[in-house]
Amino acid sequence: MKFLKRLWQYFKEYKLLIVLSFIFSLIVAATNGSIAYIVKPTLDGIFINKNEDKLILMPFVIVGIYLIKGVFRFLQNYLMKKVGQLGVAEIRNDLYAKIIKLPLNFFGKSSTGTLMSRITNDVNLMQNAVTHVVTGIRECFSIIGLAAVVLYQDAYLGTFALFVLPLIVIPIVLIGKKIRKYSKRGQTKMGDLSDVLQETFSGIKVVKAFVNEKYEQSKFKAHNNKYVKFQLRRMVYNEASSPLMELIGAIGLALVVYYGGLKVINGESTPGTFFSFMTAIVMMYDPFKRINNANNAIQAAIGAAERVFYVMDTHNEILENDGERDCKAVNKQISFNNVYFKYSENDDYVLKDININFSPGTTNALVGSSGAGKSTFINLIPRFYDVSEGSIKIGDVDLRDFKVYSLRSNIGIVSQDPFLFNDSVTRNIAYGIENVSQQDVVNAAKAAFAHDFITDLPEGYETIIGERGVRLSGGQKQRITIARAILKNPPILILDEATSALDTESEKIVQKALENLMKDRTSFVIAHRLSTVINADKIVVLDNGEIADTGKHSELLETSEIYKTLYRMQLKDNEE
Ligand code: ADP
Repeated sequence: MKFLKRLWQYFKEYKLLIVLSFIFSLIVAATNGSIAYIVKPTLDGIFINKNEDKLILMPFVIVGIYLIKGVFRFLQNYLMKKVGQLGVAEIRNDLYAKIIKLPLNFFGKSSTGTLMSRITNDVNLMQNAVTHVVTGIRECFSIIGLAAVVLYQDAYLGTFALFVLPLIVIPIVLIGKKIRKYSKRGQTKMGDLSDVLQETFSGIKVVKAFVNEKYEQSKFKAHNNKYVKFQLRRMVYNEASSPLMELIGAIGLALVVYYGGLKVINGESTPGTFFSFMTAIVMMYDPFKRINNANNAIQAAIGAAERVFYVMDTHNEILENDGERDCKAVNKQISFNNVYFKYSENDDYVLKDININFSPGTTNALVGSSGAGKSTFINLIPRFYDVSEGSIKIGDVDLRDFKVYSLRSNIGIVSQDPFLFNDSVTRNIAYGIENVSQQDVVNAAKAAFAHDFITDLPEGYETIIGERGVRLSGGQKQRITIARAILKNPPILILDEATSALDTESEKIVQKALENLMKDRTSFVIAHRLSTVINADKIVVLDNGEIADTGKHSELLETSEIYKTLYRMQLKDNEE
């Protein structure tokens, strides 16, 4: 229950509202008791005393009580829902803030569907429970109020009835357990369904290209069937619980009717007492049902809270061990010193014994067969991952001694598949940069050879691009991301060259844009283009996680067998 305390952190600022809602719920409970109670004076007034004056008063009392009940129930529910929404909105914000800052390896381990379900489904379940907690407490008070009426009207029969009634609780608890079990399984299946959806929709091109709709469909169908299976089982218990409760209630009621009726006939009791007693007993059914529902909601929320706080507690090793120093990488050498890296404890090393220096302002090409470790190598520079052993330094400072945000602001990344946000061209180019003048954006676009096509767009720099906006060609997208990097103006640059060549015309423009971008920066390029490799100041040949050779193109052609093979198999082909 440790997380109850943490949950409270989010709700404590609404203490006053919660207390108020609590008081209102007491009033609602009291009106329930009153309704059962006034049955006696009403009926006895009619049947025994035949008192007309009192009878005239009764309709007003009845409407009055329901008015009070209605107003306070509304206020209580509204206040609690409000508290629930506000508190939970804060949890949602915190959770998102936490997740978006988590290191990349976390995203490798959890699927997008699951993460989305944490922020939407689970947080909603928690919100739902907040209201139910107060409802549950209110209904407990209602039961106490009604029990008081029952005992007051007939202490003997009341005691008997109050012993029988709790029997209703036993099947509720047993059935509740089953419901929880199946709803939990249903939730897991729902998660699987979202994963399939997320995966197939984002990879829809692949699905279509491989004509694999049938397979995906059957996969979806299988998950969906399982989901329905659990839902159906849950429903059996869900739907059985009410009739069962009613049946047990009816048996109790039947006994009470018999003995209570007998007392009226024998003159030991009045009709008013009898009906007031009965009303209170019957009115107890609703609170029991609501407590049952509240219990189910709270159980579901406990599971959800566990999952949410599990994510909130994920360690962010990189941010938790953040360095102190500001990073200024201009004119600084970058060095890898005895670097070893593996993705997780039990894996093999993906990079081994890397020792190499890169001079400032140079272009460095990484080549190697697929899986050789090129992407891993460049991902270590912005600390997307930390080295397992050894160190990477800028100048003579270990990367881990820099503030991570300061380090990353020194690095620009242009990747194979350019990613654009659903936003204007300007906002896409100035992504992550504040206080930038339009002139700077235009200059960056010009240097990236993007200005001309941007001005041809329907609304120029204000045109919305990305998934929901104007579609750009591959080459155009790439030039926007190049403009983004030029505007950021970082001393270090990471490029992941596209393997699938653009058409020659756009390829040439992108190439020229890249040349502008790379000028005077220390660049690391995962090279697929022969021209990049030939012009590089240093080529690093990676083989199975180790540096096999380094040098310039002409040197390596002489000395490196691996490079010669790569050159023949990959680079030359790409050029042709
Ligand atoms: P390259 O970019 O040269 O194709 P990578 O750096 O992507 O090579 O991969 C090097 C090795 O690391 C491969 O064996 C790959 O399976 C492994 N690898 C890459 N990314 C991960 C990851 N996130 N988790 C575990 N292993 C990974």
